[in-house]
This record gives sequence, C-alpha cells and structure tokens, in this order.
Amino acid sequence: MIYIIGAGLAGLSAAVELTSRGLPVTVFEASAQAGGRCRSYVDPVLEMTLDNGNHLVLSGNHATFAYLRKIGAEDHLVGPDEATLDFHDLRTSESWTIRPNPSALAWWLLSPKRRVLGTKTTDYLALVGLIAPPANRRIDQVISCEGVLWDRLLEPFLLSALNTEAKSASATLAGAVIRESLALGGNAYRPRVAHPTLSAAFIDPALAYLAAQGADVRFGQPVRGLTFEGDRVSGLGFADGDVTVTDADTVVLAAPAWISQTLVPGLTAPNAFNAIVNGHFRFTPPPGLPPIVGVIGGTAQWIFSFDDRLSVTVSGADDLADQDREALARRFWADICAVHGLTAPLPPWRIVKERRATFAATPEQNARRPKARTDWRNLILAGDWTATGLPATIEGAIRSGGTAAKGVADARAANFKG
Ligand SMILES: Cc1cc2nc3c(=O)[nH]c(=O)nc-3n(C[C@H](O)[C@H](O)[C@H](O)COP(=O)(O)OP(=O)(O)OC[C@H]3O[C@@H](n4cnc5c(N)ncnc54)[C@H](O)[C@@H]3O)c2cc1C
Repeated sequence: MIYIIGAGLAGLSAAVELTSRGLPVTVFEASAQAGGRCRSYVDPVLEMTLDNGNHLVLSGNHATFAYLRKIGAEDHLVGPDEATLDFHDLRTSESWTIRPNPSALAWWLLSPKRRVLGTKTTDYLALVGLIAPPANRRIDQVISCEGVLWDRLLEPFLLSALNTEAKSASATLAGAVIRESLALGGNAYRPRVAHPTLSAAFIDPALAYLAAQGADVRFGQPVRGLTFEGDRVSGLGFADGDVTVTDADTVVLAAPAWISQTLVPGLTAPNAFNAIVNGHFRFTPPPGLPPIVGVIGGTAQWIFSFDDRLSVTVSGADDLADQDREALARRFWADICAVHGLTAPLPPWRIVKERRATFAATPEQNARRPKARTDWRNLILAGDWTATGLPATIEGAIRSGGTAAKGVADARAANFKG
C-alpha cells in the first residue's frame, strides 16, 4: 500500500500518478475537504462558492496541464488566446495592455503599443541578469530594482510569482520563473484561471479520478505521528490508533512544511511564511471588463472579474493580514472603482486571509528546502516547499507530486530487488 498524508495538490497529484500506474493508494487528509491551500468553499455571507484565493497559472505550466489532462479537467482553465495582460497605474490614472508575441523572439518589445507604457526596449535587458543568476543572491543583488519597468512589470510580476517582497526574494527562484515564462515567449505565459472555481478544476475531478481507480481517500484523519524503526517508517499514528506500515508499504508525506517538521525528526524545511489576502465582492461586473488587471500604486495588486463577482488579490501581504477586515474591504473596493470607473457603493464582501500562504521565497528559505527522498527508505516528501526548483506554486506542488510518485516506484523496485 502507498499511504499519502495530505490531499493538497502535491498529495493528489502523487495519488493520481500512482493510481494511473495501477498502484494501491490510501490518502489521509486532516481536514474535511481536499485542496489544502487551493480550495473552494460555499460562503455563507456572499451565498456563493468562493475560492480561498484567486490562483493564476500560466499556459507553460506543463505539469499542471498534464495533471488536468489526466483527470479530464483541462477545459476548466480559461484565459485569453494570447498573452495579453491589462494594467492600470492608480498614481497616474494610466492604463495599458501588454501584448507579447507568441514566440521566444520577443519583437513585441520593439513596439511601444505592445510593451509596458513608458518603457524603452533597452530596459528589458535587465531580465537577462535574472535568467542565470549567481546562486543564493537576492534579486536586488543581481538587477537594479528601480525604474518604470521595475515599477510597472517586474516588481508586480515577481511579487505575485514569489509571494515575497521582490527586492529581497531569491534571484534563483525568480530566474526559474523567468526561464519558464518570459524567456520562452508569449505562448508560455498566457494567463489561465480556474473556471468556475478552483475545486471544479483541480480538486473534484481528481477525487472522481481516484475513486474510479479504487483509491481510498479518507477525510478528517490527521496523522499525529510517524513511528520509525531502523531505516524505515513502521507506523502512522491517528487519534484512534495506529496504522502499521509494513516493509512493502511506502509513505508520501504531502503535508505543509510546518506540519511535516513536527512529524519527521531533524527535518530542515522552510520556516518563514508570507501571507496572501483576497477580497471577494458580490457584484455583477458590467460587460467588457478585462478578466485580470494588474494594479500599480494601490492596495489591490490584481483585480479579477468573474460572472458574479469581483475579486482582489494581494501577495506579500503580512501587514494587511493584521488589519481590520472591513477597512480592507473598503480600500479594495475603492481601488476597484478607480480602476474600472465604477461608482457603486460597497457590495457584500468577504476578506480571506491566508497567513501561511507560501514559504518566504528568500535565498535563506530556499536553501532549507529538502529533496523528496529522505533518510528513511520508505518515506518520501512532497509539497510546494520541497526542492522543486520553483517557488511555492500550483506547478511546483504538482511537480513535487510527480517526483514523489517516481520516488515511490524506485523505492518499491529497490525493495523488490532487496
Ligand atoms: C491565497 C493563495 C493564493 C495563491 N495563489 C497562487 C497562484 O496564483 N498561482 C499558483 O501557482 N499558486 C498559488 N498559491 C500557492 C498554491 O496554492 C500552493 O502552492 C499549493 O496549493 C500547495 O499545495 P501542497 O499540496 O503543496 O500543500 P497544501 O495545499 O498545504 O496541502 C497540504 C494538505 O495536507 C493536509 N494536512 C496537514 N496536516 C496533515 C496531517 N497531519 N495529516 C493529514 N493531512 C494533513 C492539509 O489539510 C492540506 O490539505 C496560492 C496560495 C494561496 C494560499
């Protein structure tokens, strides 16, 4: 049996991969629902299904799309045919749309109508410094963090990709994101959002797939402890007793970093985390609003338009997470009205604060990320916080699930030989 601890995207993607290879899987999830930090719920105040936070993925996130194809949910990601993205600068009331061309030969940078308003073609040479940065540096040690391009594209892009103040974030992780997106051309970074909800795209179809494959997914089952014997895990502890882990079994620990550290002795893992705050507003947007707008110079950083709601996302939001919810709702709504030219009073709202949304993507925290394989031969780690080479993202979590699945296959093969 393969025991998977945690039904977030890392655990689910490992389970999907393993069951697709015909292997027996049992998943233990602590909470009453799957999805972890990427989940939807019925909100009693707004009386609608909300996502805990707006999640953006890019068309070049290949592991994400492979996972969605496998669970039959690729159609649940929607977005424009081209990598267009709208921005609004609240300080100057200027709006613009970037229109990157699809190929890696980035000729869009030659056109003032396609590139960021107020930038020159040569400004974009700054990106070259991030493509292969020296190890363990902060972004501000590698490129200059000022100027129009920084303010209007690089800072908002890197802040949201890394969920960390961009200047002090890891240049290595920024480089990984840029190599897989901006450097490949517009085809690799067409924005995609889940429709109608995160769970409809990423979670419910995975659970249906696992059920069809005969996997056992158990909710409300937090693993309280692991028992170790020699070089292997020999038991999983629950409130109502232990499950024996035999020589033939493997354990994939796909719980968050802060839980995994309590379960595995001596595990070095990220131990600093940053918040993301979202504000959801029950308001039917007027026709023609862009699906996503990057906001410069406001409290809101990104505004998402859905059929039945408008929604704000703020990354690196530790200071906002300590503030009064109603005050935040009013500030977000003021930004929405200014960006979209609305004059509506504050509609029903919900503020969702995720205090430990992701690990802080600094060089120090990145250096604390463990590999999937552990000192115990039947224990494998998964999660966006493991050494995926990416920041804590859906793509990173799903890749970690794939790595863990491969590790399970290898561990079983070694066990079989042994
Ligand atoms: C508000 C917000 C916005 C985000 N926006 C984006 C975005 O735009 N794009 C993007 O790519 N990424 C985004 N992310 C990051 C993305 O959601 C995460 O990287 C990803 O969901 C992490 O998945 P995971 O499986 O590694 O961890 P988790 O989702 O944390 O899953 C771990 C699971 O383990 C369970 N668990 C915990 N303890 C135990 C235990 N003892 N026993 C059993 N189960 C246990 C938890 O309940 C949880 O279900 C965002 C995250 C947040 C919070």
